[in-house]
Amino acid sequence: MGKKKSTPRIVYRYLGKEWAWGQAYPYYKKPIIEIDPRLGAKRMLEVICHEALHIALPHLTEHPPKSKAYAKGEAEIDRLGKALANVLWKDGYRKVLINKHHTPVLLTRNKVVKPKKNESRRNHR
Ligand SMILES: [Zn+2]
Repeated sequence: MGKKKSTPRIVYRYLGKEWAWGQAYPYYKKPIIEIDPRLGAKRMLEVICHEALHIALPHLTEHPPKSKAYAKGEAEIDRLGKALANVLWKDGYRKVLINKHHTPVLLTRNKVVKPKKNESRRNHR
């Protein structure tokens, strides 16, 4: 039996080039979920649920990317992610920035970088 998979780490990164709101890397030793920081609160919750499900249920999309089986698995993940996010949202779960000056850590290709001071100010005022 394999070890229990660790809880994924969420990192925030602009994902424009990937044409995605979020991405999951289920096969990393420590799984990573990437989220586009520009998403609104509700969409962000939905995308986090969606990507977490990719990591929890990797078999659903273990098929060639353009196959019917893959599309079916993706549709299932999408349905589950929306269902989960809707329940949580309805019950009042929201992202809260604890620290007034908190800015999500951004991940570039290989390293974690903190946004520049003037950037974080622009984003939160
Ligand atoms: Zn997906």
